[in-house]
Amino acid sequence: MTKRIFSGAQPTGNVHLGNYLGALRNWVALQHEYESFFCIVNLHAITLPQDPKLLAEKTRDLARIYLAVGIDPQVSTVFVQSDVKEHSELTWVLNCVARVPELERMTQYKDKAKKQQDNITVGLFDYPVLMAADILLYQTDLVPVGDDQRQHLELTRDLAIRFNRDYGETFKVPDAYIPKAGARIMSLSDPTRKMSKSDDDPNGCVLLMDDADTIQKKFKRAVTDSGTEIRFDLSRPAINNLLEIYNLITNKSQQEVEDHFAGKGYAQLKGDLAEATVAFLQPIQQRVKEITDERLDQILGQGSEKARQIASVTLQQVFEKTGLSR
Ligand code: ATP
Ligand code: MG
Repeated sequence: MTKRIFSGAQPTGNVHLGNYLGALRNWVALQHEYESFFCIVNLHAITLPQDPKLLAEKTRDLARIYLAVGIDPQVSTVFVQSDVKEHSELTWVLNCVARVPELERMTQYKDKAKKQQDNITVGLFDYPVLMAADILLYQTDLVPVGDDQRQHLELTRDLAIRFNRDYGETFKVPDAYIPKAGARIMSLSDPTRKMSKSDDDPNGCVLLMDDADTIQKKFKRAVTDSGTEIRFDLSRPAINNLLEIYNLITNKSQQEVEDHFAGKGYAQLKGDLAEATVAFLQPIQQRVKEITDERLDQILGQGSEKARQIASVTLQQVFEKTGLSR
């Protein structure tokens, strides 16, 4: 049987190069090999405050981005999380399997809670359980994500194993697919932090929809390390990050990239990087504009129908195993 992948991104802001290089790029590459489900996880988005009108807009924008980067709705299922009620229902059941201390250990929760001291919702705490439900509903084999999601994936596996042990074999235990390169693209303003949609500093992220001017400015402002040599070196995280982006965007080998920049300065690196990024994003931005509302609704409608067919079978099994169906 064809193996399945499931993954998603939150419509919390604008998609950046980190999201693309760490996740979306691999979805596109894997979709022909796996039966693929790509979700716009708007239920995750509301774990932090969102403007309702903007959230609805961002949800559609993100769907457009999925398609524009190369997700093919003929082979992949693209849908919005809140359109498939099973995600919320399975979350409740898994809430009764997950333990409070294991959720308290989640570093994303701790990081995001720190920024929200007076306003930490139960939803933010429960985020990893919802993510486990997303994945387990589709009997997923592989979950292509960035490195920041490694811990959540471990929890998903733990919950699946525990449920299977307590109620009988029900869920496939999924594996994470974390790429060797691009799994953790760092902020241009602070190479100790990952590039994030919810970052307060807009200069840290290059967005897929940024215009050429903005891209040039952001790379120009990017912090660098001391020294002058341009080569891959983890002990110089700022330059390493810029080179990793260049490497992935241009599809060159590390050696080719180092040869290209041999004897050149940081200004050249930033200029070339901006130029390559603009050229790379131009056709994506063009495709975003070409997707009509009508086409988008059709794809998301078909997607949620297909997703529901599979999700409902899993949920029915869960209800039977747990005594929730009579
Ligand atoms: P937020 O700050 O709202 O959490 P985000 O930038 O982390 O936004 P998500 O929607 O949470 O984006 O994540 C979507 C996918 O992108 C996930 O698979 C995640 O692992 C991946 N991802 C996020 N940031 C990076 C990054 N800096 N480098 C590589 N992959 C990333
Ligand atoms: Mg995130």
